[in-house]
Amino acid sequence: MSDQLTIALTKGRILKETLPLLASAGIAPVEDVHSSRKLVFDTTHPGVRLVIIRGSDVPTYVRHGAADMGVVGKDILLEHGAEGLYEPLDLGIARCRLMTAGRVGWCSNGARIRVATKFVNITRRHFARQGVHADVIKLYGAMELAPLMNLADLIVDIVDTGNTLRANGMEPLEEIAAISSRLIVNKAAMRSRCAIIQGVIGDLAAAVGRG
Ligand code: AMP
Repeated sequence: MSDQLTIALTKGRILKETLPLLASAGIAPVEDVHSSRKLVFDTTHPGVRLVIIRGSDVPTYVRHGAADMGVVGKDILLEHGAEGLYEPLDLGIARCRLMTAGRVGWCSNGARIRVATKFVNITRRHFARQGVHADVIKLYGAMELAPLMNLADLIVDIVDTGNTLRANGMEPLEEIAAISSRLIVNKAAMRSRCAIIQGVIGDLAAAVGRG
C-alpha cells in the first residue's frame, strides 16, 4: 500500500472541472492526464497521487480503502448508496438535474408505465414514493432512444441544457434530484490520516468558495 494519499477522480466531464479545483488546492498531476493512457498519476503535492476511473467505480475504490478520497457525481451516490463513506463537501461542479422525460405531449393513460434508465434504484424509489406502478428497464446508454422505439414510455436521465432531449423530440417532466459532484472520504482513512485529509478538504472548500 502506498504511503501517499490516493484520490480517485471520475474521468470525463467531471475531471475537466475537478482539475482546476485540485490545482488551487496545490494538487496538480505532473503529466497531462488527457493525453496519457496511465491510470495513476503523481502530483505536484508529494504526498498525494490520483487515480482516474469511471464514476461508478469511484465509491467502490473509496469504500474499500483502495483510495482514501474521491470525486463523484451525486447521481452515482444516490444510485449505488454511500455506506462506508463520508461526503464532506459539495464541489458545486458538473451541475445537472436527474429528471423524468417523455416524448413531447406524452400523457399517462393510467396503465403501468415502462421507464428506461441506467438509474434503476433511483427510478424504483421515485415511482414507489408516488405510488405509481412502473416497470423499470435497465439500459446502459442512449436512454432517449427508448421512447422513440417504443421500448419505454418515459426515461430517467441526467439533463443539463435539455438539448439531447429536444433533439430527440422529448421534453423534461419532473425533477428527481439536483446533481453536482461530491468529495467522498473513506471512514477509516478519515481517522487514520486525519491531518492530511482535513488539509485537502479545507483547501478544496476554499477553492470552491473562491469559484
Ligand atoms: P444536455 O443535452 O445538455 O441536457 O446533456 C444531457 C446528456 O449529457 C445526458 O444524457 C448526460 O449523459 C450528459 N451529462 C450532462 N451533464 C452531465 C453531468 N454533469 N454528469 C454526467 N453526465 C452529464
